[in-house]
Amino acid sequence: MQFTRLRLNGFKSFVDPTDLVIQPGLTGVVGPNGCGKSNLLEALRWVMGENRPTAMRGAGMEDVIFAGTASRGARSFAEVALVLDNADRLAPAGFNDQDQIEVIRRITRDAGSAYRVNMKDARARDVQMLFADASTGAHSPALVRQGQIAELISARPKARRRILEEAAGISGLYARRHDAELRLGAAEGNLARVADVVEGLA
Ligand code: ATP
Repeated sequence: MQFTRLRLNGFKSFVDPTDLVIQPGLTGVVGPNGCGKSNLLEALRWVMGENRPTAMRGAGMEDVIFAGTASRGARSFAEVALVLDNADRLAPAGFNDQDQIEVIRRITRDAGSAYRVNMKDARARDVQMLFADASTGAHSPALVRQGQIAELISARPKARRRILEEAAGISGLYARRHDAELRLGAAEGNLARVADVVEGLA
């Protein structure tokens, strides 16, 4: 699946609605210091489910909302939309009924953030899985931030393995295994309680 558009509205320095077309191939973002290059990359991570404010260089998630300047008031919400080309129908079940997938994340002051996929409400988990299955996501090594190459060179083998696993598209499987293990644990707990009740009745 290919990213085809990124739309921002009220996200960090992108106070006005901004619509970017993403062409096939490698995309580089260039511009003078402070023009918003890192903010763009953060918008991509954020719409794919990034939940750590520190990864957005903020203290809280609401710090992604345009905070105002001397000449413009602060905004009450921020929204990022990412459009994916799904013509090859590789999206996971539940998202695979259209040629395009539009994922929208919106955060409103004092009301938290919510996702919509093709105009339907979606859970953060589902959005994260959608991107994990497409071998990308908020932590994708395909999004290269400043200083990351130096970090990779000095990374430990385990960290390097995670990068290979993401590139191979199996990180979504790990997340599903973890979910299945949690459900299995809960089911075992329920069985143990039923056994106690049965023993009590005997
Ligand atoms: P550099 O090349 O120096 O790393 P950059 O192009 O990556 O810069 P960013 O770090 O993306 O630039 O953008 C920094 C700008 O974004 C700053 O001017 C900062 O004030 C502005 N900014 C960040 N968060 C917000 C916010 N919530 N509201 C308004 N402006 C913000």
